[in-house]
Amino acid sequence: MNALSRPPHIAIVGTGPAAFYAAADLLQRAPTAHVNLFDRLPTPGGLARYGVSPDHAGRRRVIATYESLVMSTGRLHFHGGVDIGTDISHDELLACHDAVIYACGCAGDQSLGIPGEDLPGSHPASQFVGWYNGHPDHAQHRFNLNTERAVVVGNGNVALDVARMLLLAPERLARTDMAEHALAALRHSQVQEVVVLGRRGPAECAFTTPELLELGHLDEIDVVIDNAPDLLSSPPAGSVPVSDARDYAQHLKLQLLREYAQRAPRSGKKRLVLRFQTSPLALEGEGHVQALRVGRNRLVTDATGKVQAQATGDEEVLETGLVLRSVGYRGSALPGLPFDPAKGTLPNQRGRVMNPAQGQAVPGVYVVGWQKRGPSGVIGSNKCCAQETVTELLQDLPSLQAAQPIEQTTLWQQVLTRLRPGRVDYRGWKAIDRAEQALGLAQGRPRVKFTSVDAMRRAAAET
Ligand code: NAP
Repeated sequence: MNALSRPPHIAIVGTGPAAFYAAADLLQRAPTAHVNLFDRLPTPGGLARYGVSPDHAGRRRVIATYESLVMSTGRLHFHGGVDIGTDISHDELLACHDAVIYACGCAGDQSLGIPGEDLPGSHPASQFVGWYNGHPDHAQHRFNLNTERAVVVGNGNVALDVARMLLLAPERLARTDMAEHALAALRHSQVQEVVVLGRRGPAECAFTTPELLELGHLDEIDVVIDNAPDLLSSPPAGSVPVSDARDYAQHLKLQLLREYAQRAPRSGKKRLVLRFQTSPLALEGEGHVQALRVGRNRLVTDATGKVQAQATGDEEVLETGLVLRSVGYRGSALPGLPFDPAKGTLPNQRGRVMNPAQGQAVPGVYVVGWQKRGPSGVIGSNKCCAQETVTELLQDLPSLQAAQPIEQTTLWQQVLTRLRPGRVDYRGWKAIDRAEQALGLAQGRPRVKFTSVDAMRRAAAET
């Protein structure tokens, strides 16, 4: 990096794992930099707080670890309860900083585009995830748990997360930080079976091996493999040469599925049915979901070598009162910024946001995480992704500073004064954190989350 004229001021919009990795990298590589971290909610964490499932508490800790690391520098400043686009415009934010990094993730959902998709009883999985994790936007949802069978469409890790949450024993859930309203509802759930539909075969499923392995160790759940005709006839893993780690993970996954397929059902257990080569065709019901019509697929390899699902014409009706659509997330456009509607991301080169019409970088605007590369990868994938963006930003920094108005600091002080009444700073967040943990302690739980912004703001005021 060339010499800087003054300590850099960088804004990061979003506070999930990608944002924290970017902040940590910036603070380390630019030792005089100050970073302002914004979240529209009073609490930081993004998907680490509201996406990771409650029984995977260890994965949430990444945020706590990074939080203490970067906050201890005194150069990271949290601004919760500030909505960029409403409370401050993008242009204003950029005028107060040398650069802005967007880390807003993908909050929208892909749709199935089939009849009945919007019937009551059919929901995007993201609503269910937000609901059981106590996200203020989703706390008010209601799910029909008065049904023996639920169906989850999709074969990714989110599909396995929501299926597990529907089936785990309430006593197990009660030891997690699951939202109280979700715990109460799941205690009375009638769901005995969750069918997870994959349109392609076992070799093409998107969920990862550790998540599949975990299912086999849950005493209250039987994993049942359905409609995987080639699984048992294909050669077992170990007899096939494995060339790299990816191949190895894939072989391990198939081996596990084979092992599950051979397990004898145990009486009295709830069932998680992994049903392959099956596509949803229509949701049916009078006023609410009562059934899902599905079609069987055969697998064909297209000209590019990709295995595709092709309908056989065989159809079947699954009775169910709850369908969760878990077929991927989708990012949305932000006012004043370019957007790639096909990918649902900010168009970018190595994290520099690009204006596609002019083929040029938008000065001072960067992106990390799912908003940069689409909704894929695990929490750790965001580390390299953030480092790549920070490298580009640091290269650009001298010229960005040269172009920045000298009244930048005054402008920022004016904005801060305007934001102060609703803004929750780091002390405020720590007060929320302490209050949630104290509520949890009283119930033998890690924490009890506040599920409304008002309750969070009240707790934040108790500093
Ligand atoms: P995903 O991994 O992209 O999986 C989406 C699934 O939906 C795929 O199986 C896909 O099948 C299927 N699908 C798409 N369109 C469909 C349609 N029209 N009909 C039927 N099926 C359809 O997405 P995700 O599960 O939302 O996860 C997002 C990212 O978060 C992933 O990288 C995931 O690993 C990560 N994540 C990780 C964890 C964890 O580490 N425990 C937990 C949650 C999420 P095709 O393959 O046939 O397209």
